[in-house]
Amino acid sequence: MHDRRYDGLLLDHDGVLVTLCSRSTLRAAAREAFADVGVDRPPTADVDAITIRVSPTDLRSVAGRHALDPGRLWRAREDRIEAALRSAVETGEKVPYDDVACLESVSVPLGVVSNNQQRIVEHVLEAHGLDHLFETVHARPPTLASLEDKKPAPTYLEAAAGRLGCSNPLFVGDSDTDVVAGRRAGFGTALLRRPHNADRDLDVDPTVDASSLDAVVAEL
Ligand SMILES: [Mg+2]
Repeated sequence: MHDRRYDGLLLDHDGVLVTLCSRSTLRAAAREAFADVGVDRPPTADVDAITIRVSPTDLRSVAGRHALDPGRLWRAREDRIEAALRSAVETGEKVPYDDVACLESVSVPLGVVSNNQQRIVEHVLEAHGLDHLFETVHARPPTLASLEDKKPAPTYLEAAAGRLGCSNPLFVGDSDTDVVAGRRAGFGTALLRRPHNADRDLDVDPTVDASSLDAVVAEL
């Protein structure tokens, strides 16, 4: 339990503010990235390794197997994922959850903290007219080095709180990784249940287990 009032609200992007893309859309983008760097038939395991939740170690070993520069493979992946997510916004596959509207009435400052790319998050929020809600957005540049700063590292969370001038924000996420990152930063954590994680058991306990953003906002 937190005994102090929350002075900010930080939110994850994918699966919290906007719906997730299908795995097949993301996998197709990763496959195209291999083609971009001259690998026409990558093994499925290698495609999966650079699709989501990518570890720098895995990325380097995949690149090594195909005699590729890891930075070049990664940039191709980032560019293809960006194109795929932009088109998912256009086709209506990636849309805000209905309860995002409740954020309009929150009085503490709001920020977004994502493992996705900064340029993608900014585009999605702007395309859906949500960008005015957030005072700051902290996500990755499309570089290999940025993989070290992903949640569960608290790096982007701490930076966002610093930008908002908050010492006790509540962080809302949809995964174990989010809860761990929030705890490492010393913040309260809310696990938001959405259709994709409704029945998931977590290895870590969030401060709040919430079924909607309205329930999260009620904690403030
Ligand atoms: Mg998420």
